[in-house]
Amino acid sequence: MRVLITGGAGFIGSHLTEKLLGQGHSVTVLDDLSTGAADNLAAVRDKEEFKLHVGSCLDEPLVIELVDQADYTIHLAAAVGVKLIVERPVHTIETNVKATEVVLAAAAKKQKRVLIASTSEVYGKSVKVPFHEDDDISLGPTNRSRWAYACSKALDEWLAFAYCSEKNVPAIIIRFFNTVGPRQTGRYGMVLPNFVRQALTGEDITVFGDGKQARCFGHVHDAVEGLTRLMMAKDAVGRVFNIGSTEEVTISQLAERVKKATGSSSSIKYIPYEEAYAEGFEDMPRRIPDVTRLFETTGFKPERTLDEIIADVIEDQKAILEGKR
Ligand code: UDP
Repeated sequence: MRVLITGGAGFIGSHLTEKLLGQGHSVTVLDDLSTGAADNLAAVRDKEEFKLHVGSCLDEPLVIELVDQADYTIHLAAAVGVKLIVERPVHTIETNVKATEVVLAAAAKKQKRVLIASTSEVYGKSVKVPFHEDDDISLGPTNRSRWAYACSKALDEWLAFAYCSEKNVPAIIIRFFNTVGPRQTGRYGMVLPNFVRQALTGEDITVFGDGKQARCFGHVHDAVEGLTRLMMAKDAVGRVFNIGSTEEVTISQLAERVKKATGSSSSIKYIPYEEAYAEGFEDMPRRIPDVTRLFETTGFKPERTLDEIIADVIEDQKAILEGKR
């Protein structure tokens, strides 16, 4: 199959590119290299079945051409990371909403199959855990920029459903929960690569808030396994799926586990949210996926443990610090 991956030079996209090429598909990546990096694709760069187009998903003629050439489009390109979103809300809203519109409109021309990446952020401040795909969502007020991300991705989902029902576009939506692993950069605020880098360099490990907020961290290899299975699943079209681990950990516990696993002498430092992000920043206390639908549809659920994940991220961050990556 010929697959187009927007955002394929990013953290999840590059792992997905490798996996699909390994399965014998041909892959074209469209990426503007804003948060992704061509280096992420170093292992596949010279493969005949691989092509990289450096360009924007807002470039309508280019997107139409590439979607047309592909059998399947996976739209991962988006503004990511809470830090980036709080700092650049205009960019976040425009990138996330306009690019998805362009991709869906291109797919509608010949009813091409498309997978739209969404996020667990859309559950917002919901407190009924685990989060099920059909649950109500609960977002904060519009003057808090964090929620712009959730709202923009929720709008992407509405658009995908709308194109699916009104224009017969076979679309699937995936809500990624906290996904971590090699190649994820801490530059955009993601907690695990930051903690590991801090622990390895002897800096303070910075826990935001009281550290009691909890997350489930899933390995990127599990995330792309779930995604590729959904692509091939018979009854996935027109539906939304959670993908993520169900092993919960508080951010304080995560800091302790990273400190132990690295043998670090770093101190764990608590930083108020308003100092870490912006005045009035709102975090969510818990975020756990219900992955029943993924399992029932594909027979798969993420299974790599947090210990394995931490070990992989340590290896990756060590390679970066030693200049090997
Ligand atoms: N966080 C932290 N220290 C950091 C970066 C993040 O304590 O250096 C916290 C963040 O406030 C959140 C959790 O770790 O409660 C997960 O953050 P991340 O940005 O990785 O993902 P989120 O779950 O916010 O999408």
